[in-house]
Amino acid sequence: MGKQAIKISSVDSDELIKKLNAALSEEWLAYYQYWIGARLMEGPMRSEVEPELLLHADQELGHAVLIVDRIVQLGGTPVVNPMEWTKLATCRYEEPSDPYIEVILTQNLHGERCAIERFQDLADFTNGKDHATYQMAVQILNEELEHENDLEDWLKDLARMKNDLAKIRK
Ligand code: FE
Ligand code: FE
Ligand code: MG
Repeated sequence: MGKQAIKISSVDSDELIKKLNAALSEEWLAYYQYWIGARLMEGPMRSEVEPELLLHADQELGHAVLIVDRIVQLGGTPVVNPMEWTKLATCRYEEPSDPYIEVILTQNLHGERCAIERFQDLADFTNGKDHATYQMAVQILNEELEHENDLEDWLKDLARMKNDLAKIRK
């Protein structure tokens, strides 16, 4: 960390770097969760949902870039071994063993809700103490909120479609 950076920061930097490394691990896991899920997915609305899931994957990777740059700026060491990802992450990787679209979307939704907690916590932790990390956390949080919304909308549409079909069958 630069001298002035150290002087102005009143945050516990070890604790912050620990949180950032957990977040970095979670972003990589989220990236793969979306990336592999988009390719395995089967079911209605597949062609509409697939490109958006791949876009979300890219955005998760973008989050990883922001986080790793901040860790380095803070003088920390970013996680260098992918074997550490599942150990450091609080948000779980959910293996997409069932390719049905509803299952894939639900797994991604769990990830997003966990990510929202992660960046809310990072924002709380740095608020008023480390403006740069705070701003980054809020920026990422806003994108995770958008992701959650997209997933909820599709799941709502799927539930409605199932409901309508059940009515027709009666
Ligand atoms: Fe993310
Ligand atoms: Fe996300
Ligand atoms: Mg989206």
